Formats: sequence, C-alpha cells, structure tokens
Amino acid sequence: MTDWVCPLCGCLCDDIKITSEKGSIKLTQNACPKAFKKTKIDYLNIPGPKILNREVKIEEALEKTVFLLEKARYPLIYGLSGTTCETARNALELGELLRGSVDSSSSLWLGPENMAAAIWGEQTCSLGEVKNLGDLVIFWRCNPVVSHPRLISRFLRPSFPRGKFITQIQKTLITFDSISTSTGKISNIFLKIGLNKDFEVLDYLRGAINGKRASIGEVGGVPRNELDKVSSLLIGSRFGTIFFDRALTNSKEGEKNIEALITLIRELNLFTKFQFLPLGNDLNFRGCEEVFLSQTGYPNSVNFSRGFPRYYPEGKRGIDLLTEGICDTALIISPGEIEKNLGPRLKKIKTKKIILVDWRLSPLVDLATVFIPVARPGIGSEGSVQRMDGVPVFLKKFGNSSRPSDEKILRLIIKRLKND
Ligand code: SF4
Repeated sequence: MTDWVCPLCGCLCDDIKITSEKGSIKLTQNACPKAFKKTKIDYLNIPGPKILNREVKIEEALEKTVFLLEKARYPLIYGLSGTTCETARNALELGELLRGSVDSSSSLWLGPENMAAAIWGEQTCSLGEVKNLGDLVIFWRCNPVVSHPRLISRFLRPSFPRGKFITQIQKTLITFDSISTSTGKISNIFLKIGLNKDFEVLDYLRGAINGKRASIGEVGGVPRNELDKVSSLLIGSRFGTIFFDRALTNSKEGEKNIEALITLIRELNLFTKFQFLPLGNDLNFRGCEEVFLSQTGYPNSVNFSRGFPRYYPEGKRGIDLLTEGICDTALIISPGEIEKNLGPRLKKIKTKKIILVDWRLSPLVDLATVFIPVARPGIGSEGSVQRMDGVPVFLKKFGNSSRPSDEKILRLIIKRLKND
C-alpha cells in the first residue's frame, strides 16, 4: 500500500509505503527509525480479553464491563488520545448516558494551554505554512529529532523539496532546554535554561522585544546578551513558530508558563507573524480536543453529573479523579503513551475498578479488572484523526485484525446499557 498514514506520532506522515511479509508489517519507504522500531514492538504478543488475569471470551468481558458501569457511583471515561475522533465521540455519548466524567489523557499537559488560550486567544498555523513561509523556528523544551523524527526532515529542513518561498538554509532553528538534546545539536542556537525557569526567560524576552533590556548578567540560567540576541532575531523574522511539549506545561507553573508564551507571541505579532504549536506524542491528541469542543463546548475534562456538560468541575481533571480515588470505576480507552503523559502519577492511581480497552500493553494492564484488546487504528481499524496542527487525516486500515475496533466495543457497551 502506498500513501499509508503512520499512526505513531502527531506528525501523521501520509507518504509511507507499507507491505506485509509473512503476516508481519514491513515499512518500505519514507518511514523514520521510530516507526520501524515501534511497529515491531506495539503489535506483538497482545493477549486476549482478561478479567482479573483470567483469559475470557470477549462476550464475558463485555458483560462484566456493562455490569461494572451500571453499578458505578462515579464513572470516569478516560484516555482517547491514542484513538480516532469517532471513538472519542462515542465516549462522550457514553459519559452523558452514565452521567459521569470524560477526559482525555493529554489534558494534563494540554489543559493549561487550553485555559490560557481561552483567555488570551491562540495564534496557530499549519506545518505546511511553517515549511513554506517560516524563517525562524524555536523548540521550547522539546526534542523532535527523537519524538517526531520526520518533523524536521519533512517540514523544517527538507533537502527536497524546499519551501516554496523560503529555502532550508534561510531557516534559523533555536532550542531552549535544560539538557543537551539531539535537536539542540542541529539547531543554529542552543540555550540552556534552568529547571522551572521558563517563565523568567519568556517574560524577559517579552520585555526585550519591547526595548526593556535589563543590565543583569543572566536570566533563568541564560546569559542576558544571548537572550538579547534572540529577541533581535525574533523581531527581525518574517514568520516564526514556537514548538513546545509537556515539559513546559506539566509542572506547577504550567499555566503561568503558557500564559507567558501566549503573551510573548501576541506582542511579537505587533512586529511580525508568530504562532505556536504543541508537539504531542499521541496519535490524535489534537483531534480528541476538537471532538470535545464540538460536542460539549469544552476541550477536555467534562462532567455530565448534572445532565449537562460542566468544564473542569472543582478543579479536578480525570487524573485527579483517578489518583484521589474520587471515581470508583474508570473505563480507560486507548490512552496512547500513558506512562509518558502521566509520569509518576501512574503509580498513584487509587481507583479500584479499571476497565481497559487498548491496542497496546501499557502498565495499566496490571491494574485493570477487565482488559479488552482492540485493533490498532491505522493497522487493524480505520477512522479520522487530526495532525498536531489540526489538519484532518483519514487513517487507512492495513490488513484484517482479529480484534474489533475500540469504536465497535464502545457501540456494543452503549447498546447493552440502553437495552437496545
Ligand atoms: S515522524 Fe512520526 S508519523 Fe512520521 S514516520 Fe516517524 S513516527 Fe511515523
């Protein structure tokens, strides 16, 4: 198959050639090393449905799931970043039916961005614009050479074809990080910032572009003269983009950091054109957010206990409901790379009854009362997703899977709960 869409990161490369050899997948053209490695790991040795480590038939697992959800006092539906928009829509229908909470596993790091964007607005663009128009790119505490290997080779520094209005050598790459990274090594400028010093540095840059340059030696671990140089580059650019990931928002200061980033971008837009794009590892973190917005008016963390959607009630996101044991039953559906999204919080989950519907063997399998394996979107099932810049893409199925899709599992659960 040609033009297969790789479902392994938010880049969703749609120019991969794929074949099947002795029943296993073989990527033949355009795939990056991460895609080669992961297609081998993720789809092997997934066991059948289980109830408390006992292998069962899918019918029995579904019956137990419906039983647990019917008995639940406070149900939570969680995950969804690693699956299609169709599944996310079904999850919201189920959440409303059960009068529970529904949240995406990427809300922990995207939540602060959503809150700040709701107040300050959001300046964004497509990767095509970055490729064809962008002359300045900043990576803020992210390492796309490892996490999104083809982002740079396809959109930022392609050897062929070049951007329509700008050549690769005219693009300046700047990396801010607290550790030395592969992206830092290929950047024109690498600046090492102190841990949790993002706010100070972003705020200094905002002042500097407005001509307020302080006479101190360093800001957040970065020499002041380097920051002054960067601020001149920012003002002098024609089209700039800042990429960031969970390292910027997944801390106590997350909301403050993202506010400082948005304010810097707003003020830069008085001089030039600037925007930001979150880099997510999960297949459909962006599409999932769009489905929440279109169905409920909120980007994630929705509660239906009063019969209508409420956003982020009592300041609790899905992960708080799990780690504080507030929800007694959780249905976790294709949460993507949950160990990366939740970090140490994964070990603090207190909810006792967990039903896991997933295409990969994550650490959640050991915590689950019921585990239902499903087909991986883009391999055994198909559906719509969105690239990290919000461009809609349709995932084509490759071959037939013996597993049903998570969308089908959700439809069966909804049907049984409604006694249809
Ligand atoms: S960059 Fe991401 S989407 Fe593209 S081939 Fe590599 S893993 Fe797949």
